[in-house]
Amino acid sequence: MNKNILFLSPNAKLTLEKRYLKRNVLGKIIESPEDMFRRVAKNIASVDLIYNKKADIVSMEEEFYHLMTSLQFLPNSPALMNAGRHLQQLLACFVLPVEDSIEGIFDTVKQAALIHKSGGGTGFSFSRIRPKNDIVSASCGMASGPVSFMKVFNEATEAINQGGFRRGANMAALNVNHPDIFDFIHAKNTEGVLTNFNISVGITNAFMEAVENDAPFPLINPRTKLVVKTIRAKVLFQEIVQSAWKNGEPGVLFIDAINAANPTPLLGSIEGTNPCGEQPLLPYEACVLGSVNVSQMTTYKNDHYEMNWHTLEKTIHLAVHFLDNVIDATKHPLPQIEVLTKGNRKIGLGIMGFADLLIKLNIPYNSEEAMRFTDKLLRFFSGKANEASERLASERGMFPNYEKSIYARQNGPKYRNATRTTIAPTGTISIIANCSSGIEPLFAIAYTRNVLVEGGLPEIHPFFENVAKKRGLYTDKLLAEVKREGSIQNIAYIPDDIKRIFTTARDISPEYHVKIQSICQKYIDNAVSKTINFPKESTAEDVEKVFLLAYRSGCKGITIYRDKSRMSQALSFECAC
Ligand code: ADP
Repeated sequence: MNKNILFLSPNAKLTLEKRYLKRNVLGKIIESPEDMFRRVAKNIASVDLIYNKKADIVSMEEEFYHLMTSLQFLPNSPALMNAGRHLQQLLACFVLPVEDSIEGIFDTVKQAALIHKSGGGTGFSFSRIRPKNDIVSASCGMASGPVSFMKVFNEATEAINQGGFRRGANMAALNVNHPDIFDFIHAKNTEGVLTNFNISVGITNAFMEAVENDAPFPLINPRTKLVVKTIRAKVLFQEIVQSAWKNGEPGVLFIDAINAANPTPLLGSIEGTNPCGEQPLLPYEACVLGSVNVSQMTTYKNDHYEMNWHTLEKTIHLAVHFLDNVIDATKHPLPQIEVLTKGNRKIGLGIMGFADLLIKLNIPYNSEEAMRFTDKLLRFFSGKANEASERLASERGMFPNYEKSIYARQNGPKYRNATRTTIAPTGTISIIANCSSGIEPLFAIAYTRNVLVEGGLPEIHPFFENVAKKRGLYTDKLLAEVKREGSIQNIAYIPDDIKRIFTTARDISPEYHVKIQSICQKYIDNAVSKTINFPKESTAEDVEKVFLLAYRSGCKGITIYRDKSRMSQALSFECAC
């Protein structure tokens, strides 16, 4: 078999045609998917010449081309869209500072617009903005507060959406001790408001301790640093929980856990993350993501699949090399971003196709066996990503800010990249690779994916289709039933051994969702994108318990979704941005 033949699913082809492939001025597509991967491979391989004038970039291009066309690894969407093209902006994640002045705020609006134009997503902390009704000295008027400025960012994003590659995405974080925190929590309770934002409360350990002890908690004006009001921490916590129960927002960032893992605390503390929460960054820092499709990391032997650790190791090494090159290949949208991003050289290699892998290995997602396997997989994964970054450091040098990093101690690891691993949602690249997204369970066993394209094509999970056919269960009636339900758990004539393996996000208890997230987090440098699904009938107390579980088990944040809690619940799975 020619190793460079590209097999794409019909939905992958549609997705690429809609947004990724090059078009001429008349809007006609002028490259094939193969051309796209060739363009990206060539562009990223050529970076090797910066480090070695004699580098064999032709072989490197071939290796990168195969890495992507085998669907074993894909970089984040902007890299596929823009590499080797005029824009050449290849990074998905940015965090920008928002200062407490009109000039500063609108400078950031402009910077965010430039980033959105190129396909990147932006995160901000609005915590420095003075609260509503605080003094504005220039006019002797009254301040309008963070939430009103978020609306400005939202509208600017909306305008750019008209002409951009994809819908712009933002994350707004606000510290739990900001006086406007209650407005913030409820800012998205009405559907259709702040649609280009995900919102998250930055929760500190001090706050969580106050919740646990039912103690008072001060809200502080960031301008004056004075306590404006003291509230019961528990009441505020319950309000966050209640709102998340109601329609999934806000999410929560455990900001102290995030900063405990900040590799460069001397350069500043982390206040925000990218839009989907998996990439904490310093203000003016950006990061490239990429994901290994672990469902491809198996071999078929004696009638069953086994993990192929050797292929996984090779893939990780190549992918780390690829992502490190992206940092040099990218045209950074702002000079400040270029300085910090090249100084820290953060990359976020993660996995996708995890649920598919478990199915291949015959391991139920919600089982203790899955927990043990996840631990083994992620330990191996991050160990090899670290090794690859150390190897690059020996060839290319450590990241320039290394001496200011937590690694600069005697016998500390010599990394090329300040962070190596992140688990991304892989909302679109998992469609291109035709695998389950990130570390999420299957969304449904059969469904119609309306991603990017209205009226996307119907899909049935290929492994389920195989098993159902093999066991003589496959009929039009079954297909119709599965499509209607999404899940197979209530279909009486499906045997239990199949039901155990083919679970969907809604069939899995919130506790198992959190367990998987926290096991992954143990090994991942940045954060883990995960939605904790709840059944419709869950109560706010159920949600509260799971927030506490996430906090206690070392997660860096939590995002929940209760079934049917939003009117516009899409059957499609795309990044919630
Ligand atoms: P993809 O699969 O397209 O590479 P992911 O779903 O993994 O992207 O999301 C990774 C990150 O990419 C997000 O956290 C965000 O920073 C950025 N991103 C995702 N979707 C968008 C979007 N529509 N607009 C801008 N940035 C986005």
